[in-house]
Amino acid sequence: MNILVVNCGSSSLKYQLINMLTEKPLAVGLVERIGIQGSILTQKVEGRDKYIIETPMKDHNDAIKLVLDALVDNVHGVIKSMDEINAVGHRVVHGGEKYSSSVVVDDEVMKYLDECIKLAPLHNPPNIIGIEACKKMMKDTPMVAVFDTAFHQTMPEEAYLYGLPYELYEKHHIRRYGFHGTSHKYVSQIAAECMHKDIKDLNIITCHLGNGGSVTAIKNGKSIDTSMGFTPLQGIVMGTRSGDIDPAIVTYLVDELGYSTKEVNDLLNKKSGILGLSGTSSDFRDVRAAASEGDHRAQLALNVYYYSIRKYIGAYFVAMGGADCLVFTAGIGENAYETREGICEGLECLGIEIDLEKDKVRGELAEVSKDSSKVKIFAIPTNEELMIAKETMEIINNK
Ligand code: ADP
Repeated sequence: MNILVVNCGSSSLKYQLINMLTEKPLAVGLVERIGIQGSILTQKVEGRDKYIIETPMKDHNDAIKLVLDALVDNVHGVIKSMDEINAVGHRVVHGGEKYSSSVVVDDEVMKYLDECIKLAPLHNPPNIIGIEACKKMMKDTPMVAVFDTAFHQTMPEEAYLYGLPYELYEKHHIRRYGFHGTSHKYVSQIAAECMHKDIKDLNIITCHLGNGGSVTAIKNGKSIDTSMGFTPLQGIVMGTRSGDIDPAIVTYLVDELGYSTKEVNDLLNKKSGILGLSGTSSDFRDVRAAASEGDHRAQLALNVYYYSIRKYIGAYFVAMGGADCLVFTAGIGENAYETREGICEGLECLGIEIDLEKDKVRGELAEVSKDSSKVKIFAIPTNEELMIAKETMEIINNK
């Protein structure tokens, strides 16, 4: 069985065709600059040269058509016909409160996704456009929506409610949703396998640290709390996002400093976090390099970042009554061992002891805790595409 995994952004489309027997991608591709001059598709197949098509693509329909052509191409393709695609799994950022697991897309689902646009105005519209484009091109192929929010729907009320008037939750659905669910779920399952234990018997803290980042408490295989909230702006300090701040800062910026709401939004989402603190870059490699050359603000930005994550680890340790393992994943979590060390420094009081020798790995699965560490520490490469494909297969097999 082959599953096509599609992740649509406003002007980009990432895809993978995954063979579910081997769980390996047959082809991995990226379409960029959709609807903009210079549209380009790049497809990679193991053992072959990159296949690059530069041709105008006015919208996502054009992009999907080109993806399918690339997959079945006589020379560069990996399948003979579209019939060899058994289903399509779509990454959808926001599934609201209705979906606590993946669903086969039908008219009712599409209607609800439209309703969720107000909860994720930047992310859901391109996801919906991608589903519609695929439906047009592959009329008889089942489409499955896999939500970033779904895994966190198991959070108890005390974790997802804010201290706001209850009507705002009832009438306007203002609550914590959490994101990166597919990644947190995937790495927690791998961690349980590494520990040779049933995930139902484990308390796991997962740290997804990329440009965006979140920490999740997973008790007995279920998310019971997560650092992102109503939007992906809440939680730990991120590349360009502020993470947690006093909400009164927003009104201060507007009333005292004359910011418009759009400017506040831009400030908190695009100019804050590691970028805003360091004044150097949002990319951790640049900031680390600056810090090692003695740049005080770069080091300060890293310190604030480590501290913000350490606080969530401590909080979730308490929320679960202890933890069996701590997992680091995504661009920074998988690769930047210096960051893992920076975060773990000072967590010895919780029985979290990192082994500086074992930890010197980038981008590979490794247990990096000392033998004496009560809490096991793992670096685990995430694989959201495989998780989406697995969920898609499970859903269509049970249909
Ligand atoms: P997202 O998917 O949220 O855009 P990623 O998971 O790709 O982000 O993570 C991007 C971050 O990972 C960047 O800050 C980058 O510096 C960091 N990163 C990637 N590779 C490395 C590496 N080898 N060493 C240190 N940091 C890295």
